[in-house]
Amino acid sequence: MKAAVLRKAGEPLTIEEVEIEGPKTGEVRVKMVASGICHSDYSMVHGIVPCPLPAILGHEGAGIVEEVGPGVEGLEVGDHVIAVLTPSCGECGMCGEGKPFLCRDMGKTMNEFTQLDGTVRTRIGGEDIYRMCAVGSFAEYAVIPQGAAIPIPKKYDLAKVCLIGCGVTTGVGAALNTAQVKPGSSVAIIGCGGVGLSILQGARIAGATTIIAIDPQQEKRDLATSLGATHTIDPSDVNPVREVRSTTKGGVHYAFEALGLRETMEQAYGMVRPSGLAVVVGVAKFGEEISLKAGTFLAEKKITGSAYGSAVPKRDVPRFLDLYDRGELKLDDMITKEIELAAINDAFAEMGRGEGARSVIRYA
Ligand SMILES: [Zn+2]
Ligand SMILES: [Zn+2]
Repeated sequence: MKAAVLRKAGEPLTIEEVEIEGPKTGEVRVKMVASGICHSDYSMVHGIVPCPLPAILGHEGAGIVEEVGPGVEGLEVGDHVIAVLTPSCGECGMCGEGKPFLCRDMGKTMNEFTQLDGTVRTRIGGEDIYRMCAVGSFAEYAVIPQGAAIPIPKKYDLAKVCLIGCGVTTGVGAALNTAQVKPGSSVAIIGCGGVGLSILQGARIAGATTIIAIDPQQEKRDLATSLGATHTIDPSDVNPVREVRSTTKGGVHYAFEALGLRETMEQAYGMVRPSGLAVVVGVAKFGEEISLKAGTFLAEKKITGSAYGSAVPKRDVPRFLDLYDRGELKLDDMITKEIELAAINDAFAEMGRGEGARSVIRYA
């Protein structure tokens, strides 16, 4: 099969012929139909977030089950699936608490890029090729743990709903699950890429009445407005913290950071009103630290992380599809363009320039 392989951080991906094994116990082999390109892929391409190499990146995939390994339940050949980022082992302490978004096995898939048994299913002439989140959707096929393959009805265009694999679940989930945004509240979102726009839609769906979208790109601010932002701010033009605080007379109830940068994390905290909540959704550079004024805790200001939108995929994937059916969650509008796998490096170059919300690879 063809796959885009990252051999060295900072260098372009190379399209290579990769051998793929069949699924082992508890795994399925999926023919990828589509994959979104997410900012976390970009961070790994550029070594901002380190990863095992060589690797097939891509973690926002959707496809069709082609082969089912031993012991797999609830999945059949021909099922359409969205690949999610937690294998939901069902046995660890966090899964036991109903928090599969913090499943112990995510350490394996997210840090080591292997299957749950610590081995890989893809090789080039005997050399192991690791796969991001055990998905590695920048390839024509993937073997993934059964818990990470969520079956969905066949009526959907997989090149649209693949966004649920990462950006939508991370963003909508951050608003609905992590922050539990309340009706009538005010929300600020820093960064209007795929995740930021998903946070924005989650806030709108939750009934927030003031939604401030912050992004230096006019194109993304316009898209944010069309998706429900009531105000937009160009942070290259004004101080976004001061602007949010004056627009909302003292700060927002919820501020979301979707870029993974120290400066914007501190800004998000600075934007919330007393008793408000700042939610860090973006993935920071390895070893990054932020600083906050300790005196502000007297105002009961809160800051939290959000892991994969605090999502329980078996509950949330059908819920997001239902919102999509009802026209409340607009996925089609978030997709800037569809590309072929061979154009992947161009898509990363555009992402580096801050252009477009989401490019999606559609496999032939
Ligand atoms: Zn992602
Ligand atoms: Zn678990």
